[in-house]
Amino acid sequence: MAVVPDHTEQSAALFDRASAVTPGGVNSPVRAFRAVGGVPRFMASGDRCHITDVDGNRYLDLVCSWGPMLLGHAHPEVTAAVQAAVSRGTSYGTPTATEVLLGEEIVARTPVDKVRLVSSGTEATMSALRLARGFTGRAKIVKFAGCYHGHVDALLAQAGSGVITLGIPGTPGVTAATTADTIVLPYNDQAAVTAAFAEHGDQIAAVITEASPGNMGVVPPRDDFNAFLARTCRDNGALFISDEVMTGFRITRSGWYGVDGVRPDLMTFGKVMGGGFPAAAFGGRADVMAHLAPEGSVYQAGTLSGNPVATAAGLTTLRLATDEVYARLDETSATIQRLVGTALDKEGVPHVIQAAGNLFSVFFVESSEGPAEIRDFAGANAQVLPRFAAFFHAMLEAGVYLPPSAFEAWFVSAAIDDDALAELESALALAARAAAAIQH
Ligand code: PLP
Repeated sequence: MAVVPDHTEQSAALFDRASAVTPGGVNSPVRAFRAVGGVPRFMASGDRCHITDVDGNRYLDLVCSWGPMLLGHAHPEVTAAVQAAVSRGTSYGTPTATEVLLGEEIVARTPVDKVRLVSSGTEATMSALRLARGFTGRAKIVKFAGCYHGHVDALLAQAGSGVITLGIPGTPGVTAATTADTIVLPYNDQAAVTAAFAEHGDQIAAVITEASPGNMGVVPPRDDFNAFLARTCRDNGALFISDEVMTGFRITRSGWYGVDGVRPDLMTFGKVMGGGFPAAAFGGRADVMAHLAPEGSVYQAGTLSGNPVATAAGLTTLRLATDEVYARLDETSATIQRLVGTALDKEGVPHVIQAAGNLFSVFFVESSEGPAEIRDFAGANAQVLPRFAAFFHAMLEAGVYLPPSAFEAWFVSAAIDDDALAELESALALAARAAAAIQH
């Protein structure tokens, strides 16, 4: 494979202009290259499993817009559905047929009885929390260190994703009062959950967790952690909220639920269900959802919720996401994991690869003596970050776009073919060498 010459003049020029009008030059911190250094690439187009930047560099895309692009970029049927929707008008502020169809599709694929559409994962988790508090009449919530649920004030305590990448412990602007009812516990730690319920059980409205965390790298639940959480919530009159914004409709037809079958009281969705447009949702038990306005008294609303263009993109994406597509994603992911492992082993780079269905990430651990698995945020944090940065840049130069952070999942699309895998294999050989050259 030809190594892409690293021309970045146009990206650099746009980044200068962006930095003049936008803090940090990006509209979401995870897009910045702060953790790895260098200039973020400004993308101009996408085609199947590739994206092309404004300098004409073409990359195999293993970010997939942080999850949504399950089918790859510019899928002709999704594009046609969006074009047809746009040509009919873009928003009416009234109910439309497509949002009913998308709601039905979500209810058919997941254990939720009812669903409310919103525009971002953040809105979904924020609204689910409000509903849980309204339903139970309790204030406290439990979340886990390293789980990211969007930039909801009450949930920005020891969150993953960009919050770890930038090394911000929580964030200024979130008051102590706002997080006073947030109990943060170590992930996968049943004893910590039991202790928190022993102390605060009758005040806890909900436990919220990523169904299988992907925002501290991929750290799957161990020892039936989700079943334990669901049981503990039920025994204490709290709600179990499973955040499937990242995993929903990506790992299986439903999401992580399709893997462990633990039925939550409330679930949150986003990313894939918008097909690359802003659409997200929360849903759950009918008796809980009945508390939501206008049926009930817990208020929640959105001018663009269920937007006709976004729902057309999401509905078409979900309809195309068949069992065959999920089988292909699993196979592609397994192949990529094997290629990464082989390349890093060959150069003697210590690493741990963890997967949750087709989601996976690579931890650049300190030594090959261990740890054998990453179970929580503390484990994810013990990585050799300069090694990841060297690996990332070598991959970028060789034409593979990875998440610019060691704390993120890698996302595959169904558009990745054998040629793309061959490109990836050559890039990995170079990147593994670059990582091995970093002394620690
Ligand atoms: N929940 C999870 C598990 C996520 O991964 C994310 C985003 O990455 C969110 C919630 C927030 O979604 P959004 O960025 O659409 O607000």
